[in-house]
Amino acid sequence: MARARLTPLERALRDKLEDEWREEVIDAAHRFGWAVAYFRPARTVDGQWRTPVGADGKGWLDLTLVRDRVLFVELKRETGVLEDEQRDWIRRLDDAGAEWYVWRPSQMDEVIDVLRRRRGAAS
Ligand SMILES: [Mg+2]
Repeated sequence: MARARLTPLERALRDKLEDEWREEVIDAAHRFGWAVAYFRPARTVDGQWRTPVGADGKGWLDLTLVRDRVLFVELKRETGVLEDEQRDWIRRLDDAGAEWYVWRPSQMDEVIDVLRRRRGAAS
């Protein structure tokens, strides 16, 4: 099977790490006046990285943003895949009428649009 040739931009987006992508989204959110909650994974005694969540928290989305709306955002690398627990949370958030997104590095224009929009403004 022939591999599609990537442009330099496409290659850069594909290779962008989630840490770097997260910092870009948080910076953009701050510029537009959002408060952002992010819970950083911690290293366990056996050297694993785990986010210390309780109850049903496994799979909770990466960022919660609050301004005039509340946004729930899962960040993925360009080719990253949602985990089952993340799909469950997204389904529940959606059923509850929450505003949620899965954002990848190639979607920065959409991210800016969402962050800029004011509650009640046409999208
Ligand atoms: Mg993520």
